Amino acid sequence: MNVKMFGEICDAFGPSGFEEDVIRTVAKYCKGLELENDAMNNLYARMPGEDPEKPVVMLDAHTDECGFMVQSIRENGSLEILMLGGVILTNLPAHTVMIRTRSGKLVRGIISSKPIHFMTEAERASQSLSIETLSVDVGAVSRKEVTEVFGISIGDPAVPEVSFSYDEERDLCFGKAFDNRAGCACIIDTMTRLCGEKDQLAVRVTGAFAAQEEVGTRGATVTSQIVRPDLAIVFEGSPSDDFYFSAAQTQGHMRGGVQIRRMDKSYISNPVFIEYAEELAKKFGIPFQETVRRGGSTNAGKISLTAKAVPVLVLGVPSRYVHTHYNFCAKSDLEAAADLAVEVIRGLDAEKIRHICRQDILK
Ligand SMILES: [Zn+2]
Repeated sequence: MNVKMFGEICDAFGPSGFEEDVIRTVAKYCKGLELENDAMNNLYARMPGEDPEKPVVMLDAHTDECGFMVQSIRENGSLEILMLGGVILTNLPAHTVMIRTRSGKLVRGIISSKPIHFMTEAERASQSLSIETLSVDVGAVSRKEVTEVFGISIGDPAVPEVSFSYDEERDLCFGKAFDNRAGCACIIDTMTRLCGEKDQLAVRVTGAFAAQEEVGTRGATVTSQIVRPDLAIVFEGSPSDDFYFSAAQTQGHMRGGVQIRRMDKSYISNPVFIEYAEELAKKFGIPFQETVRRGGSTNAGKISLTAKAVPVLVLGVPSRYVHTHYNFCAKSDLEAAADLAVEVIRGLDAEKIRHICRQDILK
C-alpha cells in the first residue's frame, strides 16, 4: 500500500456533493486504468482491453467525507453552517475547518460557540448545543468583509482542517476522512495489482468511486445502475470499537485485520460470499475479524438491490473516531483489506460465482 497515495487522498477536499478534488487525486494514482466520471462526481475505473463477456465485479468506495456548508452569513461576520453527513455537535467547537470559496480559495475558520465568560448560569448548567448556535469565525468583523474580502458565499462547502501523517515505526496513519478514503486507496491498490493479470481473471473489475454516501448512499444508487455488477466488494473506513467494548466483544480492533461485515442496518451479507472470502483469508494468512453491527450502513445496501440482486462483500478498515476531525488507522489493516480483495477476485471462477449467486440451490 502506497502511504503517500493514501495521505494525498485523505487530504483532498471532498465533503458530500463537492468531491472533485478527491476524484482528481484518485485519478492521479489510477495509472494504466481507463477513467470516466459522471455528472454527480462518481468516478469509474476500468482495466483496458477486458473481455466484455466476463461477469463484472464492482469495487465500491465512497469519496465524500463529512463536512459542512455555509448556510448564512450574520451581520457581524460569523457564518452559520449546516452539516453534510452525520457529525456529533459536541465534537465540533474549538476545531478548525477549511471553507472553499467559489474561486477555489481555501479560508480557515474556527468553529465557535458562546464563550463560557458570556454564558448565563442557565446556559452553563445546560451546556446544550444546536447547529444553529454554532458558528464559524473566519476572523472577519462584518458580513461585507466576509463576502467582499474573504470571498465567501452562502452554499460554500467546508471540511475539517487536518493534514495526514504516517508514523512508520508504529505503522500508524493519522489524518481526516479515513471514512472512506481508506476504501478509495484499497480500490486503487487492488486494481493496479490485478491489472497486469486481467486476462487470467474470470471476471472484469470496475472501480466505482461513489459520491454522496454520507448523505444517504446517493452515489451508489447511480454507480450500481451504470456498472450493473454481478458481484461487488464494498470497502469502508469503519469505526474502530476497541476502546468501547471488552476484548471478547470487540469487532473492530485497530491492527486486528480487515473487518468482514456480516450485517448492519442496510444489508445482511451473503453468507456464501463471506465463507469463500474467509477460506481465502485463512489460506493466505490475511488477518480478519468478523463484525455484526447493531447500527451503521454502507453502499452495500443500495448495490445489493440492483437489477437481479447483487451479492456484496463488505470489507472494513478499522478506523478510530470516524465522523470527527481526527482519525487513526494501521497501514497493516489497509493492506489486509486490499490483499483479501485481490485473492477473492483471483479465486473467482464461473462455478464459484454461480454458487455465490445461489444459482445451484434448486439443483
Ligand atoms: Zn463511510
